[in-house]
Amino acid sequence: MSFLSGLLRFRAPAGLPCQQVVEMVTDYLESALSAADRRRLEHHLAGCPHCTEYLAQIRETIRLAGRITPESLTPQMRSDLTDLYRRWRTEG
Ligand SMILES: [Zn+2]
Repeated sequence: MSFLSGLLRFRAPAGLPCQQVVEMVTDYLESALSAADRRRLEHHLAGCPHCTEYLAQIRETIRLAGRITPESLTPQMRSDLTDLYRRWRTEG
């Protein structure tokens, strides 16, 4: 996870920092979050197209692979995500 924690040091406009959302996404998809955490995550997603995009990528990967953890992202996905968040950061 170090590539993510190094990458996502900024905060979205409101609520959870993106880094935390990224770390919670797999639990979210496996329905392993508490109701309160799920609400906070969904609130963040509603205002953050980048985490929404991330979630969509994870969902797609799960669909193709059956199951995924953040550690099992392919190098290509890591690269894509790195670009995604770098673009966002420079735009902001
Ligand atoms: Zn976000």
